Amino acid sequence: METVHPDLKRIELGYANAFLWTGAGGPTLIDTGSPWTFSKLLDELNAVGVQPADLQRIIITHADLDHIGGLKGLTELSDAPIACHTVEADYVTGRRSKALPGVRGKAMHAAIRVAEKVYKPHVDAVQELLLEKETTPEGFTVWHTPGHAPGHISLHHKEASLFIAGDAIINTDNKLSLPPSAFTPNEQQVIESLAKLKKLKFDTACFGHGPCIAGGADKKIRAFIDTLL
Ligand SMILES: [Zn+2]
Repeated sequence: METVHPDLKRIELGYANAFLWTGAGGPTLIDTGSPWTFSKLLDELNAVGVQPADLQRIIITHADLDHIGGLKGLTELSDAPIACHTVEADYVTGRRSKALPGVRGKAMHAAIRVAEKVYKPHVDAVQELLLEKETTPEGFTVWHTPGHAPGHISLHHKEASLFIAGDAIINTDNKLSLPPSAFTPNEQQVIESLAKLKKLKFDTACFGHGPCIAGGADKKIRAFIDTLL
């Protein structure tokens, strides 16, 4: 676990990240990793003295398996409400599944459905439905950033000068990039979502995949967005 801000820890769960907010309104978990990293998630929380029962809220950026994989297990250990964008709730509960375009997308979609049958990551209900510009009790402002998922959200914490992108942007291989096209139904919409974020100010940025950027992260992200527009 890496402290990226006095109130935010990055929990590396294989190739995906979850985040633990320990500031006001917390402890709150943002995303939950993959099903196969669930025991690591519990170990990492335990290492900083947080038990699932202590969690005040679980915020989900989007319903992909590598972000909701630990959710079902957590609900068996915790009464924390689950929060996600109102559009994403049907995907978190498995009532809908994300469509992927093209022949390759269809094949990918079939493979994801098989994985979901094996791991059964979906929960029965989402307790808190978030909307754009809403501020959570932790102080995160919700930005609806669809494209990679219909109800994908990114989170901005003004006071803490933090931005959590989810998979709207990823930071793997030492560079910022769009989420993988094979898992992204609408790349153009991702770019439009990113354009909305250009005015945000933050020192530290965190991503669903790859390391966080500390110091002047808003300028680096703005420069990346400008290459897309
Ligand atoms: Zn992801």
